[in-house]
Parts: sequence; C-alpha cells; structure tokens
Amino acid sequence: MNLVWLEELVEAFSTLPGIGKKTARRLALFVIESDSEVGSRLAKAITEAVSHIGRCPVCGLYAPSGENCHICNDFNRDKSIICVVSRPQDVLAIENSHSFSGFYHILGGNISPLDGIGPQDLRISELLSRIGDGKVNELILALDNTVDGDTTAHYISSIISSDVKVSRLAAGLPFGGELEYTDGVTISRAFRFRTSF
Ligand SMILES: [Zn+2]
Repeated sequence: MNLVWLEELVEAFSTLPGIGKKTARRLALFVIESDSEVGSRLAKAITEAVSHIGRCPVCGLYAPSGENCHICNDFNRDKSIICVVSRPQDVLAIENSHSFSGFYHILGGNISPLDGIGPQDLRISELLSRIGDGKVNELILALDNTVDGDTTAHYISSIISSDVKVSRLAAGLPFGGELEYTDGVTISRAFRFRTSF
C-alpha cells in the first residue's frame, strides 16, 4: 500500500505531543475509515483555530488574532497587581481557583541555563515596560516550585525597582510541582500566604 496521503496524515499526527508512530497510524486509519464528516470537521477545526487564535499583545495569553485577551479587556480587574506566570495554562489554573483579580503576564517559560533559555528568550522586557507606567505596585510571581522557577523568580525580583512590591507563591505548592497541575484550593492558599522577596 503506497498512499502518500495516508503517510502524510500519519506523519502529521505523530508530530503531536505524546503521540507515537503506532498511535498516529491508528488515528489516521480511524479518520479514513470514519464517515468523511469526521475528517472534514477535524481539518476545519484545526485550520480555524490556527488562523484565528493568536497571543494577547499585552499579557501573552491566547486571544483572537491581533486582539487583547478577555482578561486584559476586563476593566473591573485590579490594575495595580500583575501576576507573573510561565505558561498560558497557569493562567487557566489560577482563574479556576478564583483567588486573583488583577492582571497577568506570561513569560513563555522559565530561565533554564541547562536548556539554554536565558532572560532574553522570555517576555521579560515586555513585563518591565508594563511596570514602567507606574500604575503597578505589586508583582506576584506565580512560578513553578522547581529549580528553574526559583532561578526565574530571583532574576525578576533582582531587576524590579524597589517601589514595586514583589512576592512569590510558596505555601502549599509541592516542590517540583508545576502550577498547571496544582488544585484550586492549594493555589488559593498559596496566594493568601504569598511571601515577600
Ligand atoms: Zn491579555
């Protein structure tokens, strides 16, 4: 059987995280064997998502292409506090815990010397320019409780001017724990008992 379209579909599925060659082949065959509606819907959903979803130019969260996200557009939020996180998924976890009503800033990862990721690879200069207008008086670092999270937190606290209070979520977050996988009650406690730098 030499169907280039099938091979291409298998290849495409196998680029997804957690999908090996075998699963990719199973998925590809499932799509082909299903009603053509299944494949068309999948293809359409992917095309639409890729072309319409972008990143908020302010905080970095997912947003309609070229627009601010729903959180940055929410004027009922507290402008004086920015919560700094590594990934968009962390914002979703914190929002689900209902423990924070300020704005967010997504770095796009952690500083990780071993992986060759330095401050210049993260959205740190964007963070500094947001703070620069003087309206922000507190920064909460909601970073992973890992070595890279620690490195990132220390770096950011070292470059922030002293008139901005910097605190970090600590209480209750397990060491090595990623925020995304932490439950809402624990996140909520971690916000209440945040510690100053
Ligand atoms: Zn935003």
